[in-house]
Amino acid sequence: MARKKQTQGTCVFCDREMTRSGLAKHLKSCPQRQEAIGAADQGAGSRQPIYHLQIEDAWDGQYWLHLEMKGGSTLKELDRYLRVIWLECCGHMSEFLVGSGWGGRKVAASRRAEQAFEPGLVLTHIYDFGTSSETLIKVVDVRQGKPLSRHPVFLMARNKPLEAKCTECGKPAAWLCLECVYDHDELGTLCDRHAKDHPHDEYGEPVPLVNSPRIGMCGYVGPADPPY
Ligand SMILES: [Zn+2]
Ligand SMILES: [Zn+2]
Ligand SMILES: [Zn+2]
Ligand SMILES: [Zn+2]
Repeated sequence: MARKKQTQGTCVFCDREMTRSGLAKHLKSCPQRQEAIGAADQGAGSRQPIYHLQIEDAWDGQYWLHLEMKGGSTLKELDRYLRVIWLECCGHMSEFLVGSGWGGRKVAASRRAEQAFEPGLVLTHIYDFGTSSETLIKVVDVRQGKPLSRHPVFLMARNKPLEAKCTECGKPAAWLCLECVYDHDELGTLCDRHAKDHPHDEYGEPVPLVNSPRIGMCGYVGPADPPY
């Protein structure tokens, strides 16, 4: 089987485009990131450990984020961030576990990053214990200094939207039919034109094909934008 092409994303500091693992290395040495950190260290804010997190869907890793998180912020804040950018449909429960998979020890959401994280650690975040979304959180690195943002989390890169083709005509798709996915075991990806005259309505009109691993699950419709 042909290997799936890895998704690319852009470094927010220098605009270079790379894969998830390419960015994990690049962000350690990106000159523009070093400049931004230097500038932040001159400014207000308190010095603390700041963690570089690589976050990916546990399914096939096509969806991913590179984040910086303040050591003084809690896992609850990270949970909130993941819900807004990727997951929230109807307020399900969520949990952090040590390791990859469902077997690990639970980590309380009230823990601060500096209490819970160290480079090399992997956590699993589970959102919704019914139709579950599993997310892997890898602690790539830590720096001592001042944060780049007043918020708990700073977005350094994310995957570009996945390319999908319309199942009717092969043109780029922007919509998803949930009836195709849930009831007919089909891809359900549609272009603008074919979304308009698509016959299925069991779960409403086709929904926008947003940049989230939860697309098509439990009626999730996005918008998959970062909270700040
Ligand atoms: Zn860069
Ligand atoms: Zn839901
Ligand atoms: Zn089409
Ligand atoms: Zn359909």
